[in-house]
Amino acid sequence: MAGKMNEAFIAGREVIEQGEVATYIPELGKANKNDLGICIKTLDGKVFTEGDYQKRFTIQSISKVISLSAAIQICGYDKVFSKVGMEPSGESFNSLVELDLRKNLPFNPMINSGALTTASLLVPYMTFEDMLDYTKKVCMDEDITMNDEVYRSEMKNSSRNRAIAYLLESKGIIENGVDRSLMLYTKMCSMSVTAESLANFALLLANDGVSPVDNKRLIDSRNVQVLKTIMLTCGMYDGSGEFAVKVGLPSKSGVGGGLMSVCDKEAGIGIYGPSLDGKGNSIAGCKILEVLSNKMDLHLFSRTKMDTE
Ligand code: GLN
Repeated sequence: MAGKMNEAFIAGREVIEQGEVATYIPELGKANKNDLGICIKTLDGKVFTEGDYQKRFTIQSISKVISLSAAIQICGYDKVFSKVGMEPSGESFNSLVELDLRKNLPFNPMINSGALTTASLLVPYMTFEDMLDYTKKVCMDEDITMNDEVYRSEMKNSSRNRAIAYLLESKGIIENGVDRSLMLYTKMCSMSVTAESLANFALLLANDGVSPVDNKRLIDSRNVQVLKTIMLTCGMYDGSGEFAVKVGLPSKSGVGGGLMSVCDKEAGIGIYGPSLDGKGNSIAGCKILEVLSNKMDLHLFSRTKMDTE
């Protein structure tokens, strides 16, 4: 396993140059393009790491999975999916065209319009501190804090998300105020995690929502099934289809460079690589997962058992 991970890691490193760090949130532009880290944790307790797997970066869109989880738990499946769809959008993550022209609901909770909607559902019940506590729990990482610089930087440059939120409000989808929803959403995106925290979260999802540390159930089984399915179909924005073919693992990326993947019933993978492809996905992260999936037969629809020797 360690050898194959190393080969995949080297393949990932080779494509870093072809991508760019995000700059539309100026603070993210300060990231080191060459950083790369990976952490894999298996349900039988093995841990494989390489590179910058303990370096902190902002979770960005991966928080959309956490918000969706909390929203379904608190507001219920029916309420959440009366406000947001479950179809891939085929548009970029911060698009609003499809929302205005083609559909009255955000396509899915993994793009900005959908996550602003789940944030608005949470606003009456959860403060940001509550969401931070929930995130610490599911990521098994007590050291997660909000990165204030990234938060301010995004809030100063949030015209597009604000426009999406106002459009949603005009359609009656956001009910609890544009400002409060946008603030909660942006704070969630600004939480600092590591590749290891993401591997922990992915491992929790791989284990059907039961903590592998103390066997306590943190997320209902049915909700975990929903999260993994939506990650598989929508987690990589308008790259989700190609990624599902090439990698075949429920995954979620963020423009901070994070990427998490679930090897169901077996392992969680967390990656940090801030050089992004044109769709906003970690370019080295995608390459690593593609190589790893091929070498280790990880695709959901291949299935021999993972060989961790
Ligand atoms: N906070 C970012 C935004 O709203 C998250 C986007 C992402 O990670 N794709 O644009």
